[in-house]
Amino acid sequence: MPQRALKKSQLSLLLLLFLLLACGFLATSLVSYYASRDSIRSSIINTELPLTSDTVYSEIQKDLVRPVLIASMMSRDTFVRDWVMGGEQDIEQMTRYLREVQEHYGAFTSFFISEKTHTYYQAKGILKTVREEEPRDVWYFRLRDMRQPYEINVDLDMANQDRLTFFINYKVFDYDGRFIGATGVGLTVDAVVKLIDQYQRKYERNVYFVDTDGKLTLTGAEGGPRGARSGQALQDIAGLEGLLAKLPQPQSGTFEYQEQDGGHYLNVRYIPELNWYLFVDKHDGSALAEIRQSLYLNLLICLLITAVVLTLVGLALRRYRSQIEALATTDMLTELPNRRGFDLLASQALREAQRNQSPLSALLIDLDHFKKLNDSHGHLAGDQVLRGFAGKLRTCLRKSDILCRWGGEEFIVLLKDTDSHAAYPLAEKLRQQIEACQFPFAGVDLQIKVSLGLTELRADDSLHSLIARADHALYRAKQGGRNRVCVEPVGS
Ligand code: GH3
Ligand code: MG
Ligand code: MG
Repeated sequence: MPQRALKKSQLSLLLLLFLLLACGFLATSLVSYYASRDSIRSSIINTELPLTSDTVYSEIQKDLVRPVLIASMMSRDTFVRDWVMGGEQDIEQMTRYLREVQEHYGAFTSFFISEKTHTYYQAKGILKTVREEEPRDVWYFRLRDMRQPYEINVDLDMANQDRLTFFINYKVFDYDGRFIGATGVGLTVDAVVKLIDQYQRKYERNVYFVDTDGKLTLTGAEGGPRGARSGQALQDIAGLEGLLAKLPQPQSGTFEYQEQDGGHYLNVRYIPELNWYLFVDKHDGSALAEIRQSLYLNLLICLLITAVVLTLVGLALRRYRSQIEALATTDMLTELPNRRGFDLLASQALREAQRNQSPLSALLIDLDHFKKLNDSHGHLAGDQVLRGFAGKLRTCLRKSDILCRWGGEEFIVLLKDTDSHAAYPLAEKLRQQIEACQFPFAGVDLQIKVSLGLTELRADDSLHSLIARADHALYRAKQGGRNRVCVEPVGS
């Protein structure tokens, strides 16, 4: 196979190997990436998010539901109702009652507001009178007019240095169902906010509460989605279009939606005690970043392995190719170049000589009566003589000369920078040396003679025409009685 075709087939083999490795590695990496992504996704949706909302819910229950029950109990307390209906006589009785509730149940604050006098009682005494036009008192009048028996409100507590407080405000009715005031307890929001922050940090998710109208009611210290603050409606927060498209009104369930920053998993849970929804939102970027990183690492390792494999295979192929080339261009018996090897070397030498106008001579050598030697001493003896003759040829000639086993017992030599005048004595000397040479085989010293045909390169010569002239000279040498050198003149 010509060298170029060999190189081409080697390249296509490497390309095929590369494609196979790349496709295999890519397929396994992507399959494992998508498998882990799906399992992470399903673990987020089915386990992690519901579990977080369960935990937050149970903490909320612990922290909020108990105060709701206490406030509910206060609203039904016969003392409170009797005291109001008795004309709010002894203030100390009410403040003692509120103090008792506050201290016993560990509330942050406790209060009663009378509908008749609009007086705001708390554990330390009378705080103020509520007024309809005072923004801070709006909640009382809202509670009074609403249908539900209670409301949970996050507000600043005037009685406690304006700290953000959860108020559980219960309506109080007399025994005939007439509204006579509002009572309840308050507890600081800090604990719940801390809890939300802790969950947000620990599980890298966003935790916040939304009321039934879709308004943020409570968030961590950093705010809710996109940093929004309590009181803001989800609809008014820019960048939440993806969420709102999936969830126009708050409702329990698990949702997936897309925002500019990527995919989100959301678990929404209704908390009946608060009449709020608990939102636990996880951005898939943080969840998938790790496996995406391991995908990249995987691909990098695969790339390195592919590069190493291709380099090793490439090197091995190159070694085999040069071995094959050497085998294809070398004669195994004499280790001289064969015809193929000679063609490569000779065409180059011819080109150089013709380009530089330097002389070059061709010498065709044929062993005389070699058949006889084979016949009388055996084929192995013939082989041994051919080997010995090639060795002798090598030692008699220059390194720069081109030697070749032309075929059978014929050899060809190209003498660089040598015209036929200079080549003739060389050829003659060679003939004599061969004649004088002994080739030992199986205890017998074998001898041979050679005939040589010599010619010189012409400017218009091809390798073929040059050798044809040398062959003609050799023919003449054979015809002339063998064991001689004949020169074919350039003009013929
Ligand atoms: P001539 O002087 O006319 O060249 O006579 P010759 O016998 O040398 O020539 P001929 O062409 O009749 O025979 C060549 C012989 O060389 C025949 C063949 O068996 C022998 N020969 C060719 N290649 C090898 C080889 O590799 N090993 C051996 N042992 N003999 C070979
Ligand atoms: Mg011969
Ligand atoms: Mg011959």
